[in-house]
Amino acid sequence: MSNFIFAEQNGRAIPFEDKIFGINRKAKELEAKIGKDAVVNATIGSLLDDGGKLIVLSSVVEVLKSLDPVDYADYAPIGGTAEFKNAVKKAAFGNFEPDCFTGVVATPGGTGAIRNTISNFSKYGDEILTSDWFWAPYSTIAQEIGRKIATYELFDGNRQFNISSFSEKARELMDRQGRLVVIINTPAHNPTGYSLTVGDWDKVIESLKSVCTGERKATILIDAAYIDFAGDAEECRSFLPKLEKLPENILPVIAYSLSKTFTLYGMRSGAMMCLTQNKGIADEFVRVCEFSARGTWSNCPRSAMTVLSRIYADEALLKKVDDERKGYRDMLLRRGKSFESAAKGAGLAIVPFDAGFFASIPCNNPDEIGEKLQKDGIFLVPLAKGLRVSVASISEERCRAIPGKVRDA
Ligand code: PLP
Repeated sequence: MSNFIFAEQNGRAIPFEDKIFGINRKAKELEAKIGKDAVVNATIGSLLDDGGKLIVLSSVVEVLKSLDPVDYADYAPIGGTAEFKNAVKKAAFGNFEPDCFTGVVATPGGTGAIRNTISNFSKYGDEILTSDWFWAPYSTIAQEIGRKIATYELFDGNRQFNISSFSEKARELMDRQGRLVVIINTPAHNPTGYSLTVGDWDKVIESLKSVCTGERKATILIDAAYIDFAGDAEECRSFLPKLEKLPENILPVIAYSLSKTFTLYGMRSGAMMCLTQNKGIADEFVRVCEFSARGTWSNCPRSAMTVLSRIYADEALLKKVDDERKGYRDMLLRRGKSFESAAKGAGLAIVPFDAGFFASIPCNNPDEIGEKLQKDGIFLVPLAKGLRVSVASISEERCRAIPGKVRDA
């Protein structure tokens, strides 16, 4: 041990080990000791096959293998290549053609988009609003740049989106800050699997309009990391038209990720896209977000940009990728629904679930129950309000088996 602590905390709470990676490590250690069949590792946020192997879209791999050396060796423009920007808009919007200006900037995954939105549309010390069930890295990202996360209750007593909690918290923060960044992870929210309905969206928009008076402004960050695993591609995008004609002081920003959709997790590709009726706001969005990109990761991998551009330039190839993904999406949906109905059968309450990689079980002592389950070889992620189960990383059979064991624990 040294007498010196070199690292400055700068207001951050830095743990010794990332919680999820720590539990995953323990699960792996146990697997090595007693064998894979005896361990259920439902911690991982990647789509795995029933044998625990990472699913990689072979149609995407084919494109990757066809790249020229310059496609992976060369720098890409800071904001992304023109072909990528076009392709990523199509990927994010589907059949929806926004009747407004759109600013697009490439980011390393959805994470980069979240980071750049917080850094550019809030001030140091601001609180960023998201739901009480939330993806922990939101807090890491906020802390990294001198912000904090504040939360509203995602569900009310009737298991509906809790618009009154949202509105109350939005008003409180707006009164204090005069500006607000809200993060909404939908469809197929991590960690609950909930997707906001079109009706929920109407309420959120009305609520923000009512607090955005005078000089006040709000940025809605739609974290769409799971949009292509949430169900029918068009139905999942039915909320998008709500975003194209918002007043000038409400800016929707979509964080789109290639990690899950194209199984390119490690290639760090995604984009942030704003929709606005005002060209000046779209231009400013691109200028400030490119500046932030330059000052953090600089540019993003060109290879992933080329892969996406090629897929969207070739209808047959796009169909192949979409069809292949659909097979896996259906598998994931079956797993999620099996988990949901097994929970019901076991009398285990879960939070409202629609689709996606995760489902959650509310409980008062998640760490204690999590550890108890580990003794049975079941590894889940304890969160502040319950336990998260990654249905993406376990078989349908295991999805059916877990609820009874959790109830017993
Ligand atoms: N948002 C949520 C809720 C996630 O769970 C993830 C990944 O796990 C992301 C965003 C972004 O991931 P990436 O940076 O790999 O695109």
